[in-house]
Amino acid sequence: MRVAIVGGGIGGLALALGLSERGIPCDVYEAAPEIKELGVGITLLPHAMRELAALGLQPRLEPLGIENLESVFFNRWGQFIYREPRGRHAGYSVPELGMHRGKLHGVMYEAARERLGDARIHLDHRCTGIQQDAQQVTLTFNGVRGQPQPTVQADIVIACDGVNSAVRRQFYPQEQVAFGGINTWRGVTVHKPILTGKSYLRIGTIDTGKLVIYPIVDNVDRHGSQLINWVAEIRQAEMGMNDWNRPGRFEDFLPFFQDWNFEWLDVPSLLLHAREVLEYPMVDKDPVPRWTFQRVTLLGDAAHPMYPRGSNGSAQALIDARTLADLLARGGDPVQALQEYEALRLPATANVVETNRTVPPDFIIMKADELSGGKPLPGRIEDLIPAEEFRRISDDYKRVAGFALDKNE
Ligand SMILES: Cc1cc2nc3c(=O)[nH]c(=O)nc-3n(C[C@H](O)[C@H](O)[C@H](O)COP(=O)(O)OP(=O)(O)OC[C@H]3O[C@@H](n4cnc5c(N)ncnc54)[C@H](O)[C@@H]3O)c2cc1C
Repeated sequence: MRVAIVGGGIGGLALALGLSERGIPCDVYEAAPEIKELGVGITLLPHAMRELAALGLQPRLEPLGIENLESVFFNRWGQFIYREPRGRHAGYSVPELGMHRGKLHGVMYEAARERLGDARIHLDHRCTGIQQDAQQVTLTFNGVRGQPQPTVQADIVIACDGVNSAVRRQFYPQEQVAFGGINTWRGVTVHKPILTGKSYLRIGTIDTGKLVIYPIVDNVDRHGSQLINWVAEIRQAEMGMNDWNRPGRFEDFLPFFQDWNFEWLDVPSLLLHAREVLEYPMVDKDPVPRWTFQRVTLLGDAAHPMYPRGSNGSAQALIDARTLADLLARGGDPVQALQEYEALRLPATANVVETNRTVPPDFIIMKADELSGGKPLPGRIEDLIPAEEFRRISDDYKRVAGFALDKNE
C-alpha cells in the first residue's frame, strides 16, 4: 500500500510515526524546504502526552519542557478565581507539559527521520493538487521557488496540511476561515518564575483583554529566570483580522493591560520585555459533513481547525493519527478504513470545535465576572460561587476534549 501524507507538522509526523510502528510504510510531503524550530509555546495536555508517550517520545520531550503543577484563573484585577492541579499532580499517568513548540516539532521530525529514513520525508514539496480515479491518487507539488516537483502516485492520501489546507480547499473551494473578532498576540519573555514557576495562568476575559501565561524553559540565564510564554487575546467587533505573517505591535494590545499591576505580577513589564511579538487571528472553520473522499481524507487542523483556547489542537491531531493508524493496521480495504476513521473522529472533534467557541476553560473567568457585575470582587470568590461549580466547567471541557480523568486513567 502506498500511503502519502501531505504536511509534516504535528499531525502528519504523528501519523508517519504511528504507521511505521505498525509496519506500514509511508511518505511525508512537507512544503517547507527545511525544518526550523519556529513558533512560541505549546501546552501538551495529558491526552496529547499519552499519544506522544505511545510513540516513545515522552523521555525526549520531558527534559525540554516544564511540567505544569497547577492551572490558576484570575480576573483582570489579579484576584484569585479558581485553581486545580494538573497532569501527574492531578492523578494522570502522564505529565502536562509546557514547551517550545519548535522543540516538540524538532523531536518528532528527528524521530521520523530515524524510523522512516530521510528518503521518505520529502521537504520542499508543497502539494498543489490531487486527482483520483478508482485505482489511485496522483499528487502534484511545487518547490519553494515555484519549481514543479515530480508527480507522485499513492493508494491513499492523508492531508495533514494545516488550517489553510490546500487539499481541503479542493473539496470545499468556497470555504473561508471563521473569524469572530478575536485577535491574539504571542510572545516569550525572560522573567523570574511566576507563582510556583510551574503554574499555567489565565487572567481576564477576551471581552476586556485576556492573558494566558506559562513557563516553557527553566533557568535560561543561570539566575533562575524562565522563558515565559504569553498570549494576549482580545475581542473587538470593529477590529480587522490580524495578519498571520506580520510581527505584532505593542500599541495594538498593550493599552488593554497597562494598569495590570498585581502584587504577584507586573503584566506590562512582562509584555514589554518580550524578545519579539507575533500576531495571529483566532480563527476556526465550521465543521464539515465529510473528510473522506474515496482515497483521500483530512487529519488534524486540515480536518477540524479549532480556536486555540483549550490547548487542545495538537491532542486532537495526535488522536486522529493513532485512530487512523490502528484502522489501517487492521488490514483489509484502506478506503473503508478512511471512512471508519471519519465516522469515529468527525463528530468528536466537531464537538470540541463548538465547545472552544462557546464554553472553553476560560468561561470560568467570564462566569466570575458575571457574578461580580464586571467589578472587582468585594471579598472571596467562594462567597459568590462554590469552587465545585468551576470544577464542573473544567471537567465538562475535559470530557468533551477527551481527557477526563475518569475516562482515560
Ligand atoms: C496560536 C496557536 C496556539 C496554539 N497552542 C496550542 C497549545 O498550546 N496546545 C495544543 O495542543 N495546540 C495548540 N495549537 C493548535 C496546534 O498547533 C494545532 O492544532 C496542530 O499544530 C495541528 O497539527 P497539524 O499537523 O494538523 O497542522 P500543522 O502543525 O499546522 O502542520 C501543517 C503542516 O503542513 C505543511 N503544509 C501546509 N500546506 C502544505 C501543502 N500544501 N503541502 C505540503 N505541506 C503543507 C505546513 O508547512 C506544516 O508543516 C495552537 C494553535 C495556534 C494557531
